[in-house]
Amino acid sequence: MIFLSGGTGTPKLLAGIRKIIPEEEITVIVNTAEDTHVSGNLVCPDIDTVLYLFADTIDTDKWWGIRDDTFITHETLRKVGHHEIMRIGDQDRATHILRSELLRRGCSLTEATCELARLLGISASILPMTDHEVATQIATPDGRVHFQEYWITQEGEPDVFGVQIRGIEEAAPSDAVLSALDNEDSVIIGPSNPITSIGPILQLHGMRKILREKQVVAVSPIIGSAPVSGPAGRLMHACGYDVSSAGVLECYRDFLDVFVIDSGDLDIGTEIGGTRIVRADTMMTSVEKSVALARKILAIVRHLSTIAAD
Ligand code: GDP
Repeated sequence: MIFLSGGTGTPKLLAGIRKIIPEEEITVIVNTAEDTHVSGNLVCPDIDTVLYLFADTIDTDKWWGIRDDTFITHETLRKVGHHEIMRIGDQDRATHILRSELLRRGCSLTEATCELARLLGISASILPMTDHEVATQIATPDGRVHFQEYWITQEGEPDVFGVQIRGIEEAAPSDAVLSALDNEDSVIIGPSNPITSIGPILQLHGMRKILREKQVVAVSPIIGSAPVSGPAGRLMHACGYDVSSAGVLECYRDFLDVFVIDSGDLDIGTEIGGTRIVRADTMMTSVEKSVALARKILAIVRHLSTIAAD
């Protein structure tokens, strides 16, 4: 079962999925466009969250970092005037140090991630979307800044004029991603940000074409006219999309088979341009709620597979 993921909404869904299907049957293709170097180490926020989820160490209050981590190195650096853009925990930093060491030894990001997963005892397949370096840049009144600078340093406050992914024109999905997709008929997109989490994955060379040949089910990260959390609303608006589930559907309209929106969302009908709209409780405020949504999504995928087989 393949998932496209960012670092909050889809991991919440995966928290339910991993309770109901064997972990080795799960493949997660993860956004890398928010990756950045901090104090010399490569931080991959979305990959790290997915790794920690499967390692059972994720801090589910924040959906980043390791639960009960300490911040001694970060605070020590701050005291001597070295201010890191992200508040990085000590155990979390160990992941970044090891990843960077593996990269320095010549591993690709895919190989380094695979090794980290192995060391953490994870049997799900966690795949960076690409081994090419890409970076989400946000156009603000003061110029273009890296996503992390916009979201963390500037606290998501500046007006946004547009979103660009630097390096995406030359970026292809990794071989591991292509071969995983080759072996599956269905793809699930969790309730992740359609612009900065799923957008970069979709912009990889050939990705939309591949998805048009699959059965794709997506969950909306927007309820009514606002995201459940994060900057999706402002970024969607800046990219010309309505901030609503209909706007999210617009981002996926050329390949989406079933779109799951929240039971409390606005009525957008039962079918739009060939995509079936299904309602469910998508607010994953507990593991039990994640499991319930995961069961519903697996039922949809199995139903689609049965229809395709007939
Ligand atoms: P990021 O990398 O941290 O931006 O994480 P994602 O892109 O994976 O997830 C962010 C999106 O998840 C936001 O747009 C939220 O609206 C959405 N989200 C977070 N929690 C939930 C939830 O429980 N239900 C739904 N439907 N969306 C959620």
